[in-house]
Amino acid sequence: MADGKSNLSFILNKVHDVTFSERPVPDVATPHDVLVAVNYTGICGSDVHYYDHGAIGHFVVKDPMVLGHESAGTVVKVGSAVTTLKAGDRVALEPGYPCRHCEPCLSGHYNLCPEMRFAATPPYDGTLTGFWAAPNDFCYKLPDNVSLQEGALIEPLAVAVHITKQARIQPGQSVVVMGAGPVGLLCAAVARAYGASKVVSVDIVQSKLDFAKGFGSTHTYMSKRVSAEENARSLKEECGLPDGADAVIDASGAEPSIQTSLHVVRVGGTYVQGGMGKPDITFPIMALCIKEVTARGSFRYGSGDYKLAIELVASGKVDVKKLITTVVPFDQAEEAFKKVKEGQVIKILIAGPNEKVE
Ligand SMILES: [Zn+2]
Ligand SMILES: [Zn+2]
Repeated sequence: MADGKSNLSFILNKVHDVTFSERPVPDVATPHDVLVAVNYTGICGSDVHYYDHGAIGHFVVKDPMVLGHESAGTVVKVGSAVTTLKAGDRVALEPGYPCRHCEPCLSGHYNLCPEMRFAATPPYDGTLTGFWAAPNDFCYKLPDNVSLQEGALIEPLAVAVHITKQARIQPGQSVVVMGAGPVGLLCAAVARAYGASKVVSVDIVQSKLDFAKGFGSTHTYMSKRVSAEENARSLKEECGLPDGADAVIDASGAEPSIQTSLHVVRVGGTYVQGGMGKPDITFPIMALCIKEVTARGSFRYGSGDYKLAIELVASGKVDVKKLITTVVPFDQAEEAFKKVKEGQVIKILIAGPNEKVE
């Protein structure tokens, strides 16, 4: 457990310009909040995108912003109304806080709240910091058999849980997952946990496919430099899916993968867009139409997703530990970002500023 008092924070000033700065330790702002010492934070593609481009879509970094949103930590203080957590509890941090009053919030889809305050999404600071104050119901107590390092992987796993829920997978079904980055790998593992009997991971990097095979996927397919229809045909042939897949999940955001998805999905099947890339692409809408494909989007995570993600780890159904390539001390945060950018790691964790790394 972190016992220091540092609130050193890793701050993005502008593209490729980062600094470490000691910020005031936040306090519990309401009786329902808790203060958490951050132990570990994973780096996500979106963090690297802000570091590299200073913006994602219409979210533009205008003022210095603390990066990071995939964290686990240890409760150090609780507000007077908090009954479910106490100092010393280890928690996974859900890093987006909705308004709780709007139509999407009240209908149970708080991930779609227009007033969402999400960590490391401008203008809100992220969790690569010493201490984090949050509403207690967005801090999920980790079972004894789930480590704090695994706890930092709950965030991307919750993303995968949400995507996979959108695919409505039934036991025995076949699922194709485009992209074998962390979220794609986790979608494959969650699909297996949901009872899919065939899960195909697709990527353009052989080492990622090799990893996928030992993780959640039953089959892998290396995308070829041919047309989407051609790729879909050879995928179906190589992976024994003559009628196409029951569900196809795109976790890549890449245009050719999305196009291939629509040609791989079976008649009456489901296609879910989880990955984010270019905002507009050429989309094979005729395939969607004539096969009566159900298409769904997926954005972050909502009611029950964190809880299920923790359950999948605690029960041993998804071994997130395998995704952790390395853990680095806080002062190596920028090097860690560069490693993610260069594709040298699957998931790198940055220890909190009060956390020692052996
Ligand atoms: Zn993330
Ligand atoms: Zn709301």
